[in-house]
Amino acid sequence: MKFPLIIANWKLNGNKYFVNVFLKKLCYKLNKKKLYNIAIAPPLVYLHTSIKEIKNTNITICAQNVDVNLSGAFTGDVSISMLKDIGVKYVLIGHSERRIYHNETDFEILKKFINVKKNNLIPILCIGETLEEKKKNKTKEICFNQINLIIKNLGIKVFKNCVIAYEPVWAIGNKVSANFKDVQKIHKFIRSTISLYDKKISKQIIIQYGGSVNYKNAKELLMQQDIDGLLIGNSSLNINNFLKIIKILKN
Ligand code: PEP
Repeated sequence: MKFPLIIANWKLNGNKYFVNVFLKKLCYKLNKKKLYNIAIAPPLVYLHTSIKEIKNTNITICAQNVDVNLSGAFTGDVSISMLKDIGVKYVLIGHSERRIYHNETDFEILKKFINVKKNNLIPILCIGETLEEKKKNKTKEICFNQINLIIKNLGIKVFKNCVIAYEPVWAIGNKVSANFKDVQKIHKFIRSTISLYDKKISKQIIIQYGGSVNYKNAKELLMQQDIDGLLIGNSSLNINNFLKIIKILKN
């Protein structure tokens, strides 16, 4: 059985106190619940302390980014082997905020994806259309191209043990999330695209939704057949709101 993969993306938020209080409460609340699939994506400097906090639980850790280079004279960067070394499990790749604010290119996304796979960590490939692209009815085309970048360069098998996060750019950090019926349609399209190449992988792959998820809309989203999890930004910054989303998993 596949448990929904819920990831808290803290982005550029938090401090030592926040990390400590949040994770202590989360671990305490999840103590009796063994069957869950929850990961936290803290800012880079808090990865290590987060890993210590979640020790002896099933909670895992996700990095928000990784450098394309493996080692050397790249001041300020962090490599995939460093993330692996400290016990990170997932790495976000191609998040729209990195594509937009850091001009991350397809080439870099591909290189990062390769490095993550080579190191046996799990890439979370973020895809999704902008508002302009949505208005032009290009959602499927954009998603297809972003997935196809990986398939045409690396083959479909790399999607084994991998996550795709559908995050429409216009729905991120917004007051309104995408409609769950529309999200389901796109997720179905993503799965059927993968299934054209490999049916088994299309059934195994986790397809998360991200974009203004909160405890009010999470249930409807999670009830959809092709929504296998949620990538949550803003609503994961408040432990009580995050726990309300986790509570939905019990029902
Ligand atoms: C995100 O940035 O991955 C995200 C989904 O953010 P938010 O939930 O705040 O829209």
